[in-house]
Amino acid sequence: MKFRERLYRFMQGRNGVDALTKFMNRVSLVCLIAAVFFTFLSLVCLTHGGNTAALVFRILYYVFYGFGIIVMILWIFRAFSRNVSKRQAENTRFLYRQQKLNRRFASLKQQWKDRKTYKYFKCPQCGQRIRAPRHKGKIRVTCSKCSNIFITKT
Ligand SMILES: [Zn+2]
Repeated sequence: MKFRERLYRFMQGRNGVDALTKFMNRVSLVCLIAAVFFTFLSLVCLTHGGNTAALVFRILYYVFYGFGIIVMILWIFRAFSRNVSKRQAENTRFLYRQQKLNRRFASLKQQWKDRKTYKYFKCPQCGQRIRAPRHKGKIRVTCSKCSNIFITKT
């Protein structure tokens, strides 16, 4: 039996690599690279007599190395897991959170872009984000979500 075929048989009924696994793989890689970097910094500090700084970088090395290894074990576990439905549910939750974060990031970017022309604020009753043109003095705002009416300065 060829290797590919054997691998295919082995992976049958297992979760395999999904978006969450890929993300965890990247996180663990970044942590392990950071750990190498911190070891390097710690050595540099030691040779220059900065013992406290060397210790701090040593601790950072342990933290990032430990975390990177744990995440790596977890993603390998996810990829080979036979509990596919549970892993898929985890992946769906992850994708949902990622989308939410992306939307939040996009809206913050937009907010920053038109910070000079629009004022952004939250409805004091329901927290809905609202924007209004700047330099209009005090205005009366009606919330689009809960119809709460309030006064704000622009
Ligand atoms: Zn509201």
